[in-house]
Amino acid sequence: MRTAIYPGTFDPLTNGHLDLIKRGLCMFDRIIIAVAPSLKKQPLFTIEERLAFIKSAVKGLKGAEAAAFDGLLVDYVRKSKGVAILRGLRAVSDFEYELQIALMNRRLNHSIETVFMMPSEEYTFLTSSIIKEVTSFGGSVKGFVPEKVEEALREKFKTLKGTRG
Ligand code: ADP
Repeated sequence: MRTAIYPGTFDPLTNGHLDLIKRGLCMFDRIIIAVAPSLKKQPLFTIEERLAFIKSAVKGLKGAEAAAFDGLLVDYVRKSKGVAILRGLRAVSDFEYELQIALMNRRLNHSIETVFMMPSEEYTFLTSSIIKEVTSFGGSVKGFVPEKVEEALREKFKTLKGTRG
């Protein structure tokens, strides 16, 4: 049983993330999508909301599960009996940051490998931030996020607009 941990903020989950999870399941028996609080990034959705989106989206995917995690990633991987960390590489711009984290994680625990995968071209430029930005201005993100996420984004921005008058 080979387990990989796919960590991230997932604020919110996009079809790019899902594409990566499906690709990962071709290599690993089990993927734990590990949602970090990432409070520094001031997420739009609570960790419970982010987890609920993922749980609903991976319902039919055998081997995929979601959990919240906090603290050092390598400790979480070890506790979960994971052999690898799964990360996505989109454009070249991801590379430098990902290289830094991967090498630091290797220094912290040399028995855990970081595996990078590339999504399908149509998701190469897709980020959770762009999704939030487009929705905040009333644009459609259909086809880029699961339907439940699309609805929740619409609701969230309606509420935010309401509270800001
Ligand atoms: P983080 O705060 O860790 O960057 P994200 O939720 O933004 O959290 O991303 C989690 C992981 O998913 C990262 O490895 C990121 O590169 C990858 N990822 C994000 N969007 C996509 C996408 N559209 N296609 C493939 N991988 C992606």
